[in-house]
Amino acid sequence: MTKLNIGFIGLGNMGGPMAANLVKAGHTVTVFDLNQSVVSELTSQGAKAGVDAAQCATNADVLISMLPAGKHVKSLYLGNNDNNGLIEVLSKNTLVIDCSTIDAESARVVGNALDEQGIRFVDAPVSGGVAGATAGTLTFIVGGEQTAFEKANTVLADMGKNIFHAGDIGAGQVAKICNNMLLSILMAGTSEAIQMGINNGLDPKVLSDIMTASSGRNWTLELYNPCPDVMETAPASNNYKPGFMVDLMAKDLGLAMEAAQQSNSSTPMGSMAKNLYTMLQHQGAGSDDFSAIFKLFSK
Ligand code: NAD
Repeated sequence: MTKLNIGFIGLGNMGGPMAANLVKAGHTVTVFDLNQSVVSELTSQGAKAGVDAAQCATNADVLISMLPAGKHVKSLYLGNNDNNGLIEVLSKNTLVIDCSTIDAESARVVGNALDEQGIRFVDAPVSGGVAGATAGTLTFIVGGEQTAFEKANTVLADMGKNIFHAGDIGAGQVAKICNNMLLSILMAGTSEAIQMGINNGLDPKVLSDIMTASSGRNWTLELYNPCPDVMETAPASNNYKPGFMVDLMAKDLGLAMEAAQQSNSSTPMGSMAKNLYTMLQHQGAGSDDFSAIFKLFSK
């Protein structure tokens, strides 16, 4: 496989292990984060430290970013009052892959601005969490034109297992928030059904087995049961240690509600899930796993 010069910006819970897997795959990886300690962690694993984001971008075959939100991605690439954006230093030979989960509109604004300069861009948000990032088994949901997707595919394969082409720039973000909106609804619905069973004298494990083999079957029942002590490996059985945090699910539901409004879509279930997750945040559970929504229903 071709070994590439890869720049990687944003080495947090997800970006750190993703960059480490690119190093393991034999690429030359130059990394940057505002937090120096995560940069040092990566250099101890064989990455090179960039002095700034521009150094990661210059001469990179591929530049990857993994940042918290749309405003960070926009200011990184397009600049702000204090900094020029990377658009000033990127070469036409560099493919830009933004893996952050952000609003589709920000992805389109950045992608189209780069495209006007002849720089290829794809949005490639991920599913699979920190465990998937560490194991190199992430799912990537990519938006962008076909040739950019094909080039991105070769690099994403070193960090993930399933790689989907959802459509044009921004489509990756739309598909990702549709999935997470559905997941939040399934998690809330599964929680209320199990609690109703408990309140009516059922054993939650027996009820979960019955529903898993019946028409209520879904991913949360099968792999991520929200009721403590039903599934040994689920966060619910480990004091709701994440996993995927309530705060991140609430953020994704905020993005889903924006997308619904912009497209005049009717999303009553998503809207309810957004409210339930906001209530959970107000109860101080923002850092718990998102399956902690079960606690809203328990007596
Ligand atoms: P994180 O907060 O752990 O990491 C973000 C990193 O970006 C931090 O290290 C921060 O210092 C750095 N950063 C911010 N602005 C920067 C800048 N201008 N230049 C350089 N570095 C900068 O977040 P995370 O959990 O790694 O999530 C990253 C993205 O992935 C988010 O969009 C999140 O929604 C998404 N995501 C997270 C998970 C998860 O389970 N954590 C799962 C799927 C998707």
